[in-house]
Amino acid sequence: MIDISALTLEQKASLLSGRDLWSTKAVEDAGVPSIVLTDGPHGVRRQVGAADHLGINGSEPATCFPPAVAVGSSWDPQVATRIGQALGVESKAIGVTVLLGPGVNIKRSPLCGRNFEYYSEDPYLSGVLGAAQVRGLQGEGVAASVKHFAANNQETDRMRVSADVDERALREIYLPAFERVVTEAGAATVMCSYNKINGVYASQNRWLLTDLLRDEWRFTGLVMSDWGAVSDRVAALEAGLDLEMPGTGGVTDQQIVDAVRSGDLDETVVDEAVRRVLALVEQWPATGGEFDADAHHALARTLAAECAVLLKNDGATLPLDPSAAVAVIGSFAAEPRYQGSGSSRINPTRLDIALEEIRAIGRDVRHVPGFTVDEAVAAARDADVAIVFAGLGDTEESEGFDREHLDLPTEQVDVIRAVAGAARRTVVVLANGGVVSLEGWHDQVDAILEGFLLGQAGGGAIADLLYGVANPSGHLAETIPLRLQDNPSYLNFPGEQQHVRYGEGVMVGYRHYASVPAPVRYPFGHGLSYTSFATRAVGVEVTGDDTVEVTVTVANTGKRAGKHVVQIYVATDAGPVRRPARELRAFTKLDLEPGEERTVTLSLDRRSFAYWDIEQQGWVVAPGEYRIQVGENAATVIAEESVTLTGDVIAAPLSMDSTVGEWFAHPIAGPALMQGMAAAMTEEQRAQAEEQHHQLRMVESMPMRQFAGFLGDAIPPQALEQLIEATR
Ligand code: BGC
Repeated sequence: MIDISALTLEQKASLLSGRDLWSTKAVEDAGVPSIVLTDGPHGVRRQVGAADHLGINGSEPATCFPPAVAVGSSWDPQVATRIGQALGVESKAIGVTVLLGPGVNIKRSPLCGRNFEYYSEDPYLSGVLGAAQVRGLQGEGVAASVKHFAANNQETDRMRVSADVDERALREIYLPAFERVVTEAGAATVMCSYNKINGVYASQNRWLLTDLLRDEWRFTGLVMSDWGAVSDRVAALEAGLDLEMPGTGGVTDQQIVDAVRSGDLDETVVDEAVRRVLALVEQWPATGGEFDADAHHALARTLAAECAVLLKNDGATLPLDPSAAVAVIGSFAAEPRYQGSGSSRINPTRLDIALEEIRAIGRDVRHVPGFTVDEAVAAARDADVAIVFAGLGDTEESEGFDREHLDLPTEQVDVIRAVAGAARRTVVVLANGGVVSLEGWHDQVDAILEGFLLGQAGGGAIADLLYGVANPSGHLAETIPLRLQDNPSYLNFPGEQQHVRYGEGVMVGYRHYASVPAPVRYPFGHGLSYTSFATRAVGVEVTGDDTVEVTVTVANTGKRAGKHVVQIYVATDAGPVRRPARELRAFTKLDLEPGEERTVTLSLDRRSFAYWDIEQQGWVVAPGEYRIQVGENAATVIAEESVTLTGDVIAAPLSMDSTVGEWFAHPIAGPALMQGMAAAMTEEQRAQAEEQHHQLRMVESMPMRQFAGFLGDAIPPQALEQLIEATR
């Protein structure tokens, strides 16, 4: 244990910012070592030469695993855990103590340039996968940094925009993934985001970094800034930001020292942050070792195959027969796009080229590079199957900026359409970090394999999937809309005049589409397989206070082994707030042999039924009926059972400003008021009141203050005072 009392104020302040871009400062006399922190999230980006945090300069070779967009589509925490473990081994070998990831921000808009680094539009899926990656990584002794905390859902103006988001949306949509990663996986560090939340920089947001993170979630680790996210160092420290990254050449350390000396900052605040830095450097030693690049490449290939989503497969076009004559069209077949641009850019140890991997399996494969209509059509005509490799390039999407539309480049769409008109069968393989529109060509092609960005072994995984060496099992972690305009954030993205208003509230992604309901091209949760599955039985049981167990039996009814994702959604109209039509609350991925049948039990905890009540300032389960739905995806329910939950007594304290409706609906005040009023009435008045019952509706929204005034003595003020007391 390093003794903090042996450190001078200057030494302590020096520990609260980086030495340079990628390391913390040492205090050699006191035995405080320097540690390395680096990106993250799907590979180790250790720069030993020229350094930058935008992915410009090179880094040590490391395995580029499937980025979060792919892992999200795996719907498999095992995939995330295995990536986390492998990253842990590589981090240690490369000398990294803290790996900056995972990113669990919600895909609020498909336009966000950094969606490839995030898992999903759903907080539960994001949280489960993020927690799984952290468990894998930290299990190897390497610290995680879950980022970007919080409400960093766009790149436009990311360093200062204010995300203006209501409390319920924050609690239900934008925070739960962080909460899960912190509370369930014990993330060692949290990275705050650049943006402001409701006007306050995340880096100096005391509510976020202390009240919520530490007091409510009981986070005991370290909070660091995103690179350059600190605006006022002293305010940030007071709000709960321990470590500022990268270093500022000592400028902000001096500000801390000055603030303590002038009495503006309590030294105990400095000590607390220093203790957290010391705990980090002591508890997470990078231990060295080596990693097996070939084994990790093979792992990356296996895992990538779990992530790609088979969107469409008419007439069983896929899998391909190795003897089929295949025309491979498009530059992405030979020059793969497998990772995104920016700080997460990895220098891969190997790189699979889909074309070469296809040639290793298929016996008759011809390639047309680029996107030239005439050549593509000629090759497509001669082949049994044409496969167009389309997608987005680094200039079209990246960290640092958002897209403005969802379209593929026109030249690619032209080729797809022309090929589809000439070929016997057309398959489109997509490489993109954020969803692209399929309109204008979707109906003309036979099959679509959405690979998103699959990491360095994605080319091998694609070949395996096309030929059925692997069976597709990915499912969409975000909706593919028909039109960008259908997205609920459309009118409020990316904001203006330094504000982005999250006007859609909790209705993000499928929550909106399913509630309207609005048609989409492919719903959240959609994904096909080369085999078929049947959900045979569903049982639900209330197991305790507002907890439920769901039992589902699934059979593989086809001829190939395959993986099926059981998706459990909860739907309800109970309670005083508008709920999304359904919300994902549990899932599991099952590996089934042909003919095999398996029964699984999934638990739904209290939070699965709760909403955030802004009046109660807490999670509330409304008493009433809840439908437990097994979804093929977020738009299609294949089985449904209902349960009735006791829930919580929802009784907001009353005041004279509460409405007549609220008074009468209150479980204590309502009946008492009725009784009191009835007692004060004559028989005749009572009969009259009953007859004119409908008139109550007209005054329901009137505050009691006004209503009581109109009634004169009928409701004595003291009686109301007593009732107010009773409801507190
Ligand atoms: C990114 C972070 C990243 C950091 C260090 C920032 O620009 O937002 O995600 O970890 O740079 O590279």
